[in-house]
Amino acid sequence: MRKRMWMLAAGFFVLVIIHGVFHWWMEPIFVAKGSHFGGMPDMVADTLLFGLFCLYAFWFYRRSERKRDKYQTLLNASESMAGTGAWTYDVRGKSFHATAGLWQIIEKESDPLHSIEACLSMVDVSDRERIGSAIKKALHTSSGWQLQYGITTFKGHRKRIESKGKVLKIGGNHFLVATIFDITVTTEQQRRVHFFNALVNHSYESVLLTDTERRIFYVNEAFCKMTGYTKAEVIGQTPHALKSSGHQDAAFYERLWESIERKHHWEGELLNRKKSGEVYRERIVISAVYHDEALLGYGAVSSEIASRNKTLEHYLHIGEYDPLTGLLGRFAFMERLDTTIVSQSSAQQLALLLLDIDNFKKVNDGLGLMSGDRVLQLIADRLQSLCEDAVAVGHIGGDEFGILYTDLDDEALHLKSVQIQELFAVPFGIADTMVYLSCSIGIALYPYDAADADAILRKADIALQQAKHAGKGSTLFYSAQIEGNAPQMLALEHQLHEGIERNEFFLQYQPKVSLIDGEITGFEALARWKNSEGESIPPGRFIPMAEASDLIITISEQLYAQAFAFADALAAAEPDRDFHVALNLAARQLGKPAQLLTLLENLFERYPKAAHHIELELIERMLLESNQELLNVMQTCKTMGIMFAIDDFGTGYSSLSYLKKFPVDKLKIDQSFVKGVLKDDKDRQIVSTIIQMAETLGFTTIAEGAETEAEVRFLQRHGCAVAQGYYFSKPVEPNRATELFLLQPFKDDTVFFGDYTI
Ligand code: C2E
Ligand code: CA
Ligand code: CA
Repeated sequence: MRKRMWMLAAGFFVLVIIHGVFHWWMEPIFVAKGSHFGGMPDMVADTLLFGLFCLYAFWFYRRSERKRDKYQTLLNASESMAGTGAWTYDVRGKSFHATAGLWQIIEKESDPLHSIEACLSMVDVSDRERIGSAIKKALHTSSGWQLQYGITTFKGHRKRIESKGKVLKIGGNHFLVATIFDITVTTEQQRRVHFFNALVNHSYESVLLTDTERRIFYVNEAFCKMTGYTKAEVIGQTPHALKSSGHQDAAFYERLWESIERKHHWEGELLNRKKSGEVYRERIVISAVYHDEALLGYGAVSSEIASRNKTLEHYLHIGEYDPLTGLLGRFAFMERLDTTIVSQSSAQQLALLLLDIDNFKKVNDGLGLMSGDRVLQLIADRLQSLCEDAVAVGHIGGDEFGILYTDLDDEALHLKSVQIQELFAVPFGIADTMVYLSCSIGIALYPYDAADADAILRKADIALQQAKHAGKGSTLFYSAQIEGNAPQMLALEHQLHEGIERNEFFLQYQPKVSLIDGEITGFEALARWKNSEGESIPPGRFIPMAEASDLIITISEQLYAQAFAFADALAAAEPDRDFHVALNLAARQLGKPAQLLTLLENLFERYPKAAHHIELELIERMLLESNQELLNVMQTCKTMGIMFAIDDFGTGYSSLSYLKKFPVDKLKIDQSFVKGVLKDDKDRQIVSTIIQMAETLGFTTIAEGAETEAEVRFLQRHGCAVAQGYYFSKPVEPNRATELFLLQPFKDDTVFFGDYTI
C-alpha cells in the first residue's frame, strides 16, 4: 500500500517537474517573439500533462488490481491445497474478515456479513466454552492460542479443526488474527492407525513387518509367542537370519520372492523353526506393500497350523513341497485333491489334469540327469505361471505333473489344455542346447468320472495313457468309453495307421440347398472309412481318435486331394455355375500352418479348376485360441479364393462381433438348434436371432441337419439362406453328387411352392 502511494507521489512529482521544465523552455521562446507564454497554449499544454497523469494513475491502478487478483488466486489455491483458512476480528469495530480458505472449510459462500458469533455457532457445543475462555485469556494477556475442536459445516459435514491465533494490538485497538486447519483426514487416519495397532498387537495371528531391505522393524506379541523370539532379538534382523527349518531350499525361496515381486503377494504353507529348534508348520501370507507405486516394505501374517488329523512327522516325512521343482509333492498334491473334494459341493466341477512329458527319457539319456532335472524345473516354472488360477499344481513324480482346477467348464478346460501344450512350443534352453518337447494330457472330472481322490487320479491316468497312445501332444478327457474300449482303442489306432497306408479313407458329399429356389449351392465333403475287413467305421468314432494326434493331418491330406479332384471335375462339367465344396478343417491342421498352406497351394496347382470352389469349415473354438498367425493363415487362404464357414455355430461362445475380426463368410447353425425349432421356444429364438444378426453382420447362414419339411419351412420363413440335411439328401457318393448337381432336383420340391405355416 505504502509502496503504491510512493509511486503515485513520484508520478505527480515528475509531472510538476515536466510542467516547470516546459515553462522554463517555452517562455524564452515566447518572450523572444515578443509575446507571453500563457493563456490558451499554456492551458492546452497543462490539460495534456494532466491527462497524461490521469492515464498513468489509471494504468497504475489496474496493474496493482491485477497483481492483487493474481496473488489472491494463488493464495486461495494454496490455502485450499493445505486445507487452511484465516480470519481476523477487529474487537472494537466488531468487523470480521475471512479468507476464501475459511469459507471453503466451513462450506459456505463468502459472506461479508458473517459474524464471529455465527462462526462460533458451528463449533460443537462441548468445545465452545473452551474456545471462549482461551480467546478471553489471550485478550487479557495479549498472547495467543492453539486449539482443536469439532465443527458442523453449513452443508452438515462433521469436521475436525485446529486453530492457531493471537491478539495483535494496532493503534490501541485489539485484533484477533487466526489461521485454521482442516485436520479431519489426519485425525481419522490417526484414529485408524491406533485402531489397527491395537488389533494387530492383540491378534492371534503373527505379524511381521520389514522395510524394503527386508529388515524387520515390527513384530507383534503373537509372533513372539509363536517363534519364541523376543522383539529385541528380531528387530533389525532379516527373517533369513532367523533359524530356518531347512525344508525349503534356496530355489523355493527364489520362486517365492519372484512371485511376491510379480504379484505383490504369496500365500502358502511352509515349515519353519522356532528359537528352541522345534519345527512347526505355518500358513503364511506375504505381501509387498506399496504406496503411490513406491515399495514401503513387506508384511507377513502367519499362523501355526495345528497338525489337524496328521502328525507333524507325517508332513516332515512326505515333504510338502517337492525340493526339485518347488511345486507340491505327490502326497501333498493328493491330499489337496482330497480336501478339495471334501470341501466341494457336488454341484461344482473339479478337474484333474495329468500331464506327462513325451519321450522325456531322451532328455535324461542324451543330456544327463542334471540337465533332465533342470528341464523339469523349467517346465514347473512355466506351468506354475500359466496355472496361477489353479487350486494346486504338483510334481507327481518323474516327468508327471498334476494340475487341479475347480469351476472350469469343459470349454475352458479344453482351452487350458491347449495353452499347456503351447507352453511346450517354445524349446527349453539347457546350456547351449535347445530341447524340444511336447506333453500328453489326461483329464478326469469330479463328480462325473469318480467320487474320490484316488479314483479321479486313476481315471485321469487312464485318459493320459490313451492320449499317449494317440500320439505326441494329445489331450484326452476320461470317458467310460475310453476305459471300456481301451483295448479296442489301441486296435483302432493301429487300424488308422493301416488305413492311411492303404488309402482306405474316402468322401461322401452332402448337398447344400438354397432356401430361395432349391438350387444346390455346394456340398459338404464328409469323411468315410471302410477298413481292411470291409467294416464301415463312422466318423464319430475315428475322427476324434485321429484328431487327438497328427494322424488327422495325414488323413485330411488324402481327403482334401479327393475333394479338390471332385470340385475340379464339377467345375469342368458346369464351368459357368457357382458352387462350393466345403472341407472340414481340424485344429491340428491349423497348428501346422505352413504344412496346410503348402497342401492347399499344391492342390490348387494340381486341380486349377477347383479355384474359387473350395470352402473350409472350422469351429469357433479354433478362433478363440487364435493368434496373429491364424489370422495370417486365413488371410492367405482368402487370397487363394477360399471361403470360410464356422461349423456348429451356437454351441461355443457364439460371439458374432468376435467373428468379425476374422475373414469368415458363413455360419453353419448347429443341428441341435435346427432339431429344436419345432419343439422348443428357446431354440426357435436362437435360430431366428442367429439368422438376423448374421445377416446384419454380413454372414451367410447355413442350417445343418434339416430333416423335415416343417423345419425347412421355418428356416425359409426366418430368412436362412441355405439348408443342409436329410430332408434334401444324405451324404452321397461323388458320382451321385455330380448327378444331383446336374439335375437340380430340389428346385421342384414342394417347399418352394405354395403357402405353409407353423
Ligand atoms: P459336421 O461337420 O457337423 O458334419 C455334419 C454331420 O451331420 C455329418 O455327420 C452329417 O452326415 C450329419 N448330418 C447331415 N444332415 C443331417 C441330418 O439331417 N440329420 C442328422 N442326424 N445328421 C445329419 P458325419 O458325416 O457322421 O460327420 C460327423 C462329424 O465328423 C462331422 O460333423 C465333422 O465334425 C467330422 N468330420 C467328418 N468328416 C470330416 C473330415 O473330413 N475332417 C474332419 N476334421 N472332420 C470330419
Ligand atoms: Ca462340418
Ligand atoms: Ca456341423
